Amino acid sequence: MQDILIPTPALHGWIERLFAAAGSEPLEARLTADHLVGANLSGHDSHGAGMVPRYVNSLLNNELQLNRSVEVVSDTGSIVVLDGQRGIGQSVAHQAMASAIERVRLHGVAVLALRNSHHIGRVGHWAEQAAAAGFVSVHFVNTVSSKPMVAPHGGIDPRFNTNPFTVAIPREDQEPILLDFATSAIAQGKVRVAYNKRARVPPGALIDADGNPTDDPGVMFEPPLGALLPFGSHKGFGLAMVCELLGAALTGGETSQPANFASNYGIWNNMLALLFDPARLGTSAFFESESAGFIDYVRSARKSELGEILMPGDAERRYRRERAQRIPIDHGTMAELDGAAAAIAAARGADVGPLSALALP
Ligand code: NAD
Repeated sequence: MQDILIPTPALHGWIERLFAAAGSEPLEARLTADHLVGANLSGHDSHGAGMVPRYVNSLLNNELQLNRSVEVVSDTGSIVVLDGQRGIGQSVAHQAMASAIERVRLHGVAVLALRNSHHIGRVGHWAEQAAAAGFVSVHFVNTVSSKPMVAPHGGIDPRFNTNPFTVAIPREDQEPILLDFATSAIAQGKVRVAYNKRARVPPGALIDADGNPTDDPGVMFEPPLGALLPFGSHKGFGLAMVCELLGAALTGGETSQPANFASNYGIWNNMLALLFDPARLGTSAFFESESAGFIDYVRSARKSELGEILMPGDAERRYRRERAQRIPIDHGTMAELDGAAAAIAAARGADVGPLSALALP
């Protein structure tokens, strides 16, 4: 079945109205729409509008909180620990990054610990916020929900979640290098998208409840439940562990262990971000010419059957060009989105109408 096409500005407007109807202040509603539509625009439907029903469930069950400001837990100037107060990640991560960016302007470097935030979505969005200010940033993030979904290398039972790792490197007069991925073989949201589309996932991403390899996304939704695998065997597993320990244990955030699975609907993120001003190394001119030369050299390699060599961040930029006017949404996700609007209308008395009504003919 063909996806439904929604004009990109209409999708943005609908999400903004929905969160305003739910109770968000105008800035929070706009930041939420910017972020979610930005993820669809970047080709990451797993972290785009399709997250709205999860957020609405979390909100209506009093887990996700609206209109929260980050609370300063400790502040030594270049090192700051912030508590997201269970607020919507699209707003509290924006606030936290803005605070870190101010600190880099003052000190050249900042260590940002953000704990206790609702889902911060596509982490590349926050790295892009730093890159737009001219700063390098490295992000270690852990994810906690009602249960773990990723099995450790060598294990069958899930023990942690899809813990993303992200690096942005700004370049003068060029788009930044943006490495941004889940440490699971594929993002959990991509399993959800495949399940909603009745599609299969690539081999090597999932095991069933007995540890057998499978390409059926149903093992993540229908008991007996299986698990995602880390990407790159022991290497992805090791990076996921580092995300859990730096992103959560060190920031004062919760790791994925049973005592912390109190939420039924919320998805929680903790993040350690390291930001610095590359200009302060005094190597800017050399960096620009050396990195440009190296990237050209890498791109000049003979091509495999994939036919092209992309730099980290190129794929997202390509999607942005393709999706500037319209964004595809699968039928299963659209039904969930219409349901989310109906749930907000019932709970808050403000009806933004179904998203499907805005579909292109
Ligand atoms: P992915 O597998 O699509 O990988 C994306 C990365 O690979 C990007 O840096 C991209 O530029 C690069 N890339 C893509 N195709 C390429 C190619 N052909 N050649 C070279 N580089 C290429 O990403 P993912 O693992 O599915 O993660 C998707 C998103 O999910 C990310 O934005 C991540 O931050 C987010 N995420 C968030 C959470 C959370 O809890 N908030 C958890 C997991 C993932």
